Amino acid sequence: MTVILDGKNLAKKIRKDIKEEVALLKEKTGKNPGLAIVLVGEDPASKIYVNSKIKGCKEIGMESFENFLPKDVTEEKLLEIIEKLNKDERVNGILVQLPLPSHIDEKKIIAAIALEKDVDGFKPDNLGLLFLNDKKSLHSCTPAGIMRLLDEYNIDLKGLDAVIVGRSNIVGKPLAGLFINRSATVTICNSHTKNLKEQTKNADVVVMAVGKEKLLTEDMVKEGAVIVDVGINRTNAGVVGDVDFENVAPKAKYITPVPGGVGPMTVAMLFHNTLKAFKNVNNIE
Ligand code: NAP
Repeated sequence: MTVILDGKNLAKKIRKDIKEEVALLKEKTGKNPGLAIVLVGEDPASKIYVNSKIKGCKEIGMESFENFLPKDVTEEKLLEIIEKLNKDERVNGILVQLPLPSHIDEKKIIAAIALEKDVDGFKPDNLGLLFLNDKKSLHSCTPAGIMRLLDEYNIDLKGLDAVIVGRSNIVGKPLAGLFINRSATVTICNSHTKNLKEQTKNADVVVMAVGKEKLLTEDMVKEGAVIVDVGINRTNAGVVGDVDFENVAPKAKYITPVPGGVGPMTVAMLFHNTLKAFKNVNNIE
């Protein structure tokens, strides 16, 4: 029987656990973990994401510091704001909602965020520390959420053949590092991969992180595989992933749904990372 990896419920549980820990830490240290959120412009999708993160902070008792900036804000001004947030002791995490307008260099902005406050885990140093399996490093939220979801269902990656489709800096690459650290044998595919089916059909674990509806079909997976669908594709029928869920699910041992799989885990991991950053800076185990 196929097990659906329920990210929605697990994310709820994680938020509840974080809320309890935040309350305890507040009692113990007199301090509250704080997340600064920077949004440039009025992009509706970005606004929805940012508002849900602010609401999430409130619900779990974390401080949120909102910085809503006009779309024509200069790169210099944005760097100044980041610098101020870097110095602010109440701020443990800094999240700059991407994408930024084209006149701003995203790499430069991410580089300006203090390493210990990089709760998105986007800085090259954090990615390097992830590959080195450093305990204190902050992992990119989506890969961190996938690991937490697999752990919840006791899916041990040791010795498994894993194929990750998509090599972005925020999903595919960091996830490959986390899988390697768990002793999986990892293949990463991209748009130039000669024959995708050749890669996926023998894999024990397939992660789809592309953004193409129904790219992974039933004939491309083996019986009993673990299928993780990161894709978000907006269609007339609503949001769907990269996996032809209806036909692949019966073959899989475990599979994530879209929505309700990886998505909610990603947001939960942002709060997890902010709490981790708070504990790192206050030397709390
Ligand atoms: P991305 O930057 O959009 O890149 C997509 C990746 O897919 C690239 O590496 C690309 O290869 C590869 N690709 C494209 N067509 C392919 C094909 N036919 N066969 C194999 N590989 C192919 O990636 P992303 O930012 O990681 O996003 C991927 C998807 O995940 C999107 O749908 C996004 O919305 C979703 N997402 C979801 C969450 C969540 O929380 N659920 C979080 C982040 C992203 P090249 O490098 O060769 O171009």
